[in-house]
Amino acid sequence: MIQKLRIASLVGIHLLILAHIYYFGDEVIGSVDFQEFFHAFLKYGIINAGVVLVILAFVSTLIFGRFFCGWACHFGAVQELSWWLLKKMGITPKTLNSSLITILPLFILLNFYIAPNLHHALNTPWEGITINLGMPDIWAFLPGFVIGTLTFVVDGFLIVYFLGRKGFCRYLCPWGAFLKLPNSLAMFKVRNTGGCSQCGNCTQSCPVGIDVSYEINNYGKVTNTNCTSCLLCTEGCPSSAISYKWASPLKENFQLKHYGLNREMYTMQAIRDKFHSVHTKDFLLLPLVLMFGFAIDGLYGMGHFLSFGIAAISGIYFFTPSATGPPEGSGAGRKYTKFKKPITALLLTVFIWHGVVKFSIWQGLQQYESNNYPSAISHLERVVKMYPKPIGRFHLILAEMYFESGEIDHAEKHALKSQTINPQHEGPKKLLEKIKGKSPK
Ligand code: SF4
Ligand code: SF4
Repeated sequence: MIQKLRIASLVGIHLLILAHIYYFGDEVIGSVDFQEFFHAFLKYGIINAGVVLVILAFVSTLIFGRFFCGWACHFGAVQELSWWLLKKMGITPKTLNSSLITILPLFILLNFYIAPNLHHALNTPWEGITINLGMPDIWAFLPGFVIGTLTFVVDGFLIVYFLGRKGFCRYLCPWGAFLKLPNSLAMFKVRNTGGCSQCGNCTQSCPVGIDVSYEINNYGKVTNTNCTSCLLCTEGCPSSAISYKWASPLKENFQLKHYGLNREMYTMQAIRDKFHSVHTKDFLLLPLVLMFGFAIDGLYGMGHFLSFGIAAISGIYFFTPSATGPPEGSGAGRKYTKFKKPITALLLTVFIWHGVVKFSIWQGLQQYESNNYPSAISHLERVVKMYPKPIGRFHLILAEMYFESGEIDHAEKHALKSQTINPQHEGPKKLLEKIKGKSPK
């Protein structure tokens, strides 16, 4: 019954959003996006619809736990759908355990959302707090159709196949990381009510891979801050030994050691083969995933969720020959192993290639800003040769630098290229007029 309610909530909330857009358009309430809290409030002191959402999610988490994640989030819903589809196809991916679960979402939150916006606010203080529920518009942070679809395919479907159920929530989601602190203090939690037979059902049914059985038997409650209050564990317990119950924070037994990983977790016979630990490879995995993520982040219009989703899947794919993909020994499993080496080589080439592109863009623009044209030209020439997506801005900058350096032929070639890519842009047109004035008659 509870799960039917939860699915109804996940579907209903999205139907309400669609109905709202249909009836009110995008003018009354703007982007209801978590990142607004950082881009609008932290940076400028603006309270908009997204900021209201974050405040509500934060306060409700203090009371009910991460209800928002389990009952309302669209990424959560897509992953549940993916899991259900995979099960229908006879595939049950193992849940991967790694320290990345703690580090990567926190890193994405701090590096992309908190640090730059806080830095801006400290250097350019707010002019007071303003309220504007209509800005930015609903579509402001949505990527285009191709990148948007790809984000859902990677972070909704592939990530479940390779990293396990709710792989995105565990390995990437910065909003989940943001809600971990209030979740650790939540008053409603899954609690031990007595009579546990240690069957392991609760751990097996937990979509975010918490060893529920271990936690309730050793800490008296689920303390793991990834808990999304989905209540699959309570519903599946044959002994009714756990329930979602309130406790006064004044009487709660808070102990720091209850929030870390314990070696004895995931060792119960009934659950062992459902999980795969890559903790011994974490020291290699973390730098690798970060390097992969930075190598592609922002290229082709990719956002952080998509680029780090691809990076996490690829990094874990390299290090876990048998944990991901179809069961070993099956026909699909054999094919999977056969293609592993060429796929690994291809992925490495793609990441290194794009890493060079990203580095060259960064260096090229820096040197251009410092008027070091010879160095900027060599970096940006490499970019336009290696980056498969033609970017008019880079050709225009190159044209400007060649023009200033007196290399008119090169300037004209890049200005024409820039104009072909962006025919509406005034920049190449103006530069071509200047070039005409300089060309020998
Ligand atoms: S511990 Fe229980 S309520 Fe929390 S996420 Fe796991 S199954 Fe859902
Ligand atoms: S499902 Fe219930 S009985 Fe089984 S281990 Fe979990 S709490 Fe104990």
